[in-house]
Amino acid sequence: MRNGEVSYWWQARSVPPRRPSLPGGTEADVCIVGGGYTGLWTAYYLKQADPGLRVVVLESNFAGFGASGRNGGWVTAALPGSRARYARTPRGREGVRELERQLRETVDEVARVCAAEGIDAGLVKGGTLTVATSAAQDARLRQRLAAERDWGDGPGIVRYLEKEELDGRLRVTGAAGALYFPDCARVQPADLAAGLAEAVTRAGVRLYEATPVTSISAGRADTAAGQVRAPYVLRCAEGFTAAMPGQHRTLLPMNSSMIITGPLSDEAWKSIGWDGFETLSDEAHAYIYAQRTPDGRIALGGRGMPYRFGSELDVDGAIAPSTVTQLGRILRRMFPAAAQAGIDHAWCGVLGVPRDWCATVTLDPRTGLGWAGGYSGHGVAAANLAGRTLADLVRGLASPLTTLPWVDHHSPRWEPEPARWAGVHGLYALYRTADRLESARRSPRTSVLARAGDLISGIPR
Ligand SMILES: Cc1cc2nc3c(=O)[nH]c(=O)nc-3n(C[C@H](O)[C@H](O)[C@H](O)COP(=O)(O)OP(=O)(O)OC[C@H]3O[C@@H](n4cnc5c(N)ncnc54)[C@H](O)[C@@H]3O)c2cc1C
Repeated sequence: MRNGEVSYWWQARSVPPRRPSLPGGTEADVCIVGGGYTGLWTAYYLKQADPGLRVVVLESNFAGFGASGRNGGWVTAALPGSRARYARTPRGREGVRELERQLRETVDEVARVCAAEGIDAGLVKGGTLTVATSAAQDARLRQRLAAERDWGDGPGIVRYLEKEELDGRLRVTGAAGALYFPDCARVQPADLAAGLAEAVTRAGVRLYEATPVTSISAGRADTAAGQVRAPYVLRCAEGFTAAMPGQHRTLLPMNSSMIITGPLSDEAWKSIGWDGFETLSDEAHAYIYAQRTPDGRIALGGRGMPYRFGSELDVDGAIAPSTVTQLGRILRRMFPAAAQAGIDHAWCGVLGVPRDWCATVTLDPRTGLGWAGGYSGHGVAAANLAGRTLADLVRGLASPLTTLPWVDHHSPRWEPEPARWAGVHGLYALYRTADRLESARRSPRTSVLARAGDLISGIPR
């Protein structure tokens, strides 16, 4: 089994040769720091809108090295944050509904650009299933459905599948039912990142790799090779933000870990189903997420070790053997037929979590400094919408995107250590205990435990 090496997704297509690094000081109209989806989509839409703009992207490693080349490959319309929190902004509930509508359309926008730019990322819009594998999970699913209906989401946006209908799509051991949301697509994440990087360089964006930015200030981004001077400097580093000067408490680098099986036999697929390529999660408190990959495997992710003290980052995605064991156990429990395929590769990455779990897209017109991120694990589609929004903000447009409730959203800062470490580890200890009790059918107090976890974390419900 391979461990780390950035991710299976990159190793399957092989890591590309590095693009040149910044050769020395230069000027641009827009300088973007970070070559993940957020930075690349922003560059893409800026060039689409105004091909004459001089856009520079500075990437410390290679484009797609971060979460964008390591994720679960869900292009999901899920809201990165809490409806109730976003609803406190001036547009209220109507603004939240508009943000959700834009996110649903974004799934199709990603597919449109893939087709237009010849990006073959294995994109299939099969929707997403959240399965309940215990009575307590099923009760939560039904509560969630009621909450969705309260917000006005009808069966075209989400519906409950009884066990029989679920089994017709996908057979998960012990599943009682599922919620089905049609607005989600599966992709091979590194193929998407690589294709996007090629599309932006084709459009004339100067993408410099192996170029870490050491500091950002109004009108400039500093690197060891020199400065990039630009009236607009955009920070698009999500889970890596905490390592930047002055940003230590802005976004918590939350860890997420993944495993991938070897290719499954035709027999195994026959017993599992999954011909619609829906993405899949469960309703556990410490939930898992999975996809049937374009090359006939199952990729499954979960929290593993949630957070490293002092916001330390992983080394090229390597994970602890205990996490592989834990995720492997879940995989075999859900899909016994997949056991024969073994586990080929395991890796992890960091996503950016704000203190209130709500994402931000912002640009200060006085300083020209902007940033987007904090998608809290729902960043694949959201980064596209954020990129389009940042592009509009830079161009000074008042568009339907620039008034969405995540624009100029201010999250509180995270607590200093050791409170931050203790809080995140305490939260997941509570979640795991609640999940253990639920699967042992001893659930009366689990909602109390999980609610205590929510209160510690500030996760809005
Ligand atoms: C394991 C995992 C599974 C996930 N699964 C899903 C999923 O299925 N669906 C979903 O919607 N979301 C998922 N997410 C979240 C999603 O992948 C991210 O929110 C999204 O990719 C963020 O994109 P980004 O461009 O903002 O950040 P990143 O992709 O992390 O890119 C940031 C880039 O900035 C670079 N950088 C950092 N510091 C500097 C510096 N000083 N100078 C220059 N460059 C710098 C990094 O090298 C990196 O390439 C997952 C995340 C992880 C880790």
